[in-house]
Amino acid sequence: MSQHPLVIAIDGTSASGKSTNAKLVARDLGYVYVDTGAMYRTLSWYCLQKKVDVNDEKAVATACRKWKTALECIDKKVRLTVDGYYPEKEIRTEAVTAAVSHVSAVPKVREWMKNKQRECIKFGNLVMEGRDIGSNVFPETDFKFYLDACPDERTKRRAAEGVKENVVMRDQRDSQRSTSPLMISLGAHVINNSKMTSAETSGLILAEIKKRLAQPRR
Ligand code: C5P
Repeated sequence: MSQHPLVIAIDGTSASGKSTNAKLVARDLGYVYVDTGAMYRTLSWYCLQKKVDVNDEKAVATACRKWKTALECIDKKVRLTVDGYYPEKEIRTEAVTAAVSHVSAVPKVREWMKNKQRECIKFGNLVMEGRDIGSNVFPETDFKFYLDACPDERTKRRAAEGVKENVVMRDQRDSQRSTSPLMISLGAHVINNSKMTSAETSGLILAEIKKRLAQPRR
């Protein structure tokens, strides 16, 4: 009997360890990893490249309607390519980071992203990280996690990656937008990992998933 693919939703604040832990969980379960933040970053990078004003909602929505993208799954990781190109490093610059929460606040962009992100199910079982996966993209999933850590710890983690950033300001923008803001979705398992290693955090997530998988599915 074929079952509908499973989605593990991992949401949370900036630098709360979503990527590290989502990758560890995906690897352990053999699921496909999807970084939805990377998709928003890719559109931000594209707008900057094309000189689209990221504060001009209409212009950003038009760029999003017109850009030529494809979803690929390579080594169990989903990539969004633009005009056949995968901008892996380019989307991690300070300029893209500063632009992304403006671009991600545009309702038409969020609608487009939600459709693309739901399309990823064609690749199989997913571990998808972001800000609105449990609340908006896959609200029907039984596997929702929300990661957080204190601002000092998160700032330190970013600095260790060589990035100087006001994470609190980005969280504030992401939480205050009107369309699918960053929030703890109903039924999410909240983990504050300020004092935890990634092995401990991912171990906790995996234990919870395995416990639920052992129960009969609805
Ligand atoms: O996770 P990352 O820092 O790469 O996300 C970049 C930005 O993309 C976030 O600050 C947020 O503005 C946006 N985002 C979002 N919804 C998601 C994932 C990311 O709005 N599901």
